[in-house]
Amino acid sequence: MPEILRHTLEDLAEAFALARRDAQFWQRFVDEAKAYSGRPTPVTPLANLSAQLGGAQLLLKREDLNHTGAHKINNVLGQGLLVQRMGKRRVIAETGAGQHGVATATMAARLGLQCRVYMGALDVERQRPNVFWMEQLGAEVVAVESGSASLKDAINECLRDWADSMDDTHYVMGTVCGPHPFPQMVAYFQQVVGQESRQQVQALIGRRPDRIYACVGGGSNATGMFVPFLDDPEVELVGVEAGGRGLASGAHAARIAGGHGRPGVAQGYRTLFLQDEEGQMLPTHSVSAGLDYIGVSPILAWLHEIGRVRFEAATDDEVIAALRRLMRSEGIIGALESLHAVAAAIRAAGDRPQSEVILINLSGRGDKDIFTIADALGDDQWRSFLARRGGAR
Ligand SMILES: *Cc1c(COP(=O)(O)O)cnc(C)c1O
Repeated sequence: MPEILRHTLEDLAEAFALARRDAQFWQRFVDEAKAYSGRPTPVTPLANLSAQLGGAQLLLKREDLNHTGAHKINNVLGQGLLVQRMGKRRVIAETGAGQHGVATATMAARLGLQCRVYMGALDVERQRPNVFWMEQLGAEVVAVESGSASLKDAINECLRDWADSMDDTHYVMGTVCGPHPFPQMVAYFQQVVGQESRQQVQALIGRRPDRIYACVGGGSNATGMFVPFLDDPEVELVGVEAGGRGLASGAHAARIAGGHGRPGVAQGYRTLFLQDEEGQMLPTHSVSAGLDYIGVSPILAWLHEIGRVRFEAATDDEVIAALRRLMRSEGIIGALESLHAVAAAIRAAGDRPQSEVILINLSGRGDKDIFTIADALGDDQWRSFLARRGGAR
């Protein structure tokens, strides 16, 4: 991290430590999440899909039903309340696919904060709908032209802004990565997912689930789901990364599954990165923008190291098959990111006894993926619709 940000990070760590000890702060967070985002989100038994697979019973934690359609709002709302507590009035963020930018702009509108979002110029082109909504919500979107005009360059621009503006500005980190206290803080807000799930599964089946699957991009939905179960050794925790075109193809974003990631330091934190022998970051690929990332949460890298969380990968093709299957059997359109977890659960469920219960975190809904999904499913009418509209993509 730029040296100039050291004190800001220390101040943030202290403000967060105080908020964390304040039971009223957590209550305020839970109340706002309930009134604004629709929490608690339900746990839905997947009776049809479970019967088809003929093995373990599948349950789905419905983070797709949150306001803005994913778990991201949990973290963003929590950081927004912390910003208010710190007396700052402006937030900045960087975003790749735009989902975190939209969640941040939404929170800023709700809490009356100024908001600027940095985005690589290439991503601004690719993610028009998200840029449109951020602007309509009152945020300023800055298209970053420098470097490769992608997420990495947006992060650098955002850090530059923060170094100039730290007195009145908070950097809203979107996942459990980056320098301390961000991983700890984002995990703290996201653990609302696992806490609720624990109670809901208990109410449904009178015990803990046998296994839990969550997809892993940066790792926030997985960490949020897993952390409240860490001290239940009977619950097996499985993180699912983007297997892309297969782990042998080189076109994937699996840092832990398959053992491709190597320890390194970048963007203010140490973890397993996809990098070559010289430490150059490798290109990544995934059908889902949210999992297409070279780093992974240091918390998850550690939980892997001590053997508490197991990692698998699901390929693009398995994800599309899982998407179709979940839609047709249960009437649920999941986000491509989340479907990695569903795909891995589908792969395993048939071989497990019917007495076992598998919980899957559906981190978001799939409406945002309509272009990619229609493309992957080879929908010609959709293609000609897009062509008539001048290629809205
Ligand atoms: C952003 C996103 C992810 C990936 O982020 P994590 O920090 O790994 O949770 C996963 N699912 C959805 C729906 C997302 O929008």
